[in-house]
Amino acid sequence: EASTLSRIGLAGLAVMGQNLALNIAEKGFPISVYNRTTSKVDETLHRAQNEGPFPLSGHYTPRDFVLSLQRPRSVIILVKAGSPVDQTIAALSEHMESGDCIIDGGNEWYENTERRIQEVSNRGILYLGMGVSGGEEGARNGPSLMPGGSFEAYNNIKDILEKVAAQVEDGPCVTYIGEGGAGNFVKMVHNGIEYGDMQLISEAYDVLKNVGGLSNEELGEIFGEWNRGELESFLIEITSDIFKVKDDLADGELVDKILDKTGMKGTGKWTVQQAAELSVAAPTIAASLDCRYLSGLKEERENAAEILKEAGLKSGIDKKRLIDDVRQALYASKICSYAQGMNLLRAKSIEKGWNLNLGEMARIWKGGCIIRAVFLDRIKQAYQRNPNLASLIVDPEFAKEMVQRQAAWRRVVGTAISAGISTPGMCASLAYFDTYRRARLPANLVQAQRDLFGAHTYERVDRPGAFHTEWTKLA
Ligand code: NAP
Repeated sequence: EASTLSRIGLAGLAVMGQNLALNIAEKGFPISVYNRTTSKVDETLHRAQNEGPFPLSGHYTPRDFVLSLQRPRSVIILVKAGSPVDQTIAALSEHMESGDCIIDGGNEWYENTERRIQEVSNRGILYLGMGVSGGEEGARNGPSLMPGGSFEAYNNIKDILEKVAAQVEDGPCVTYIGEGGAGNFVKMVHNGIEYGDMQLISEAYDVLKNVGGLSNEELGEIFGEWNRGELESFLIEITSDIFKVKDDLADGELVDKILDKTGMKGTGKWTVQQAAELSVAAPTIAASLDCRYLSGLKEERENAAEILKEAGLKSGIDKKRLIDDVRQALYASKICSYAQGMNLLRAKSIEKGWNLNLGEMARIWKGGCIIRAVFLDRIKQAYQRNPNLASLIVDPEFAKEMVQRQAAWRRVVGTAISAGISTPGMCASLAYFDTYRRARLPANLVQAQRDLFGAHTYERVDRPGAFHTEWTKLA
């Protein structure tokens, strides 16, 4: 009988689940699939036939599904995060036994994973919270995978994960992340960094279009060119493609007809909340989140545009130089944003004892995921050179690049400010850079104020101890 049992199961056959199941089956691992609404089981079977044939079997009840698996059983679930995951666990775990494993592949809040690890451990069931990045295409052809939780459970399916993940020259884009909710947390920060990247790219577009006067055709070419240099990445590549797509309902390019209101599902907000909780500055990621909120106020903005008429000064622009400056500003801003994300990971790793390997995190993001980029290899190398690096921006190689690019970066931000074009992400990155690189900040004055009104005391630069002064008596 054992030979007819599947090696692994997957429950939840929406976009992500269907594609990941087909990917696993295509790599030769017999897989059983299940979905609450059974028509999706048939859909998946149909695809496995059309795209395959692949070793994939469909099941219509939780019991049949679970019992179709080899022991110890490994079941990946890919349903909507939150209570659907709890409901799915309840339905499946009823038929599972000690040593079996549940792997939640959704964008789940890491504390939910830590709660579920506890809950299922009563029955000896192992649990992984696994970040999956790369969207539909990644799931089908090779995602970046971030599994955290039970190491034993990870080892049970390591061979499968390493085959289905995206492959880059230094290995598959998967590694065991750490205990508890570490995998979900790393995926959350990945998404926060993704927010930052998308915001910075949209600002580069805004400046080039509205200050530089570039057409969509020119923008498509410029982003295509940038994708052959230091900015080479999935997001730059798809941006270049977007500018080339004609509107099929009217004249011109489609990008100009899209309503300027961004959607979101919460991982960016969680990232910013966690940064605040851990006292880690993440201004670029926060700026990108704020911009999503402001973009939602479309009607208010239309009204404000009438009242607060354009104040921008547009002076003569050297288009060629602007394009080159924007490329450099984008790159330098991006490094600051990644520095923030990495420092957030490190702070959480210390708090939770996860022992995260930051270089490995950069490595598994090199392929499969939305933020995949050539320069992630350089981040990996920076942490290999010095695992205790205080910030990416002081790594000798990145520091040199930052210094080389700062004049262009300042010109772009200055030009945009003068023109009344907001570049909150680039400004946040630049302010982060300028704050971090200053040995003395005006925080002395803030401390004096705190001591004056609240007797909070202050430290001195020239001798140890806590001091308090009766400021008003001396003034
Ligand atoms: P989704 O739209 O988030 O969820 C739909 C799936 O959840 C369906 O299979 C649905 O089953 C199931 N479901 C919902 N409520 C349920 C319940 N109470 N009990 C049992 N099943 C329930 O699907 P998705 O877009 O494929 O995403 C899956 C997960 O991956 C999510 O956590 C998502 O955030 C994450 N993710 C998505 C992407 C992406 O590009 N879409 C990328 C990375 C990560 P029915 O068919 O029966 O309704």
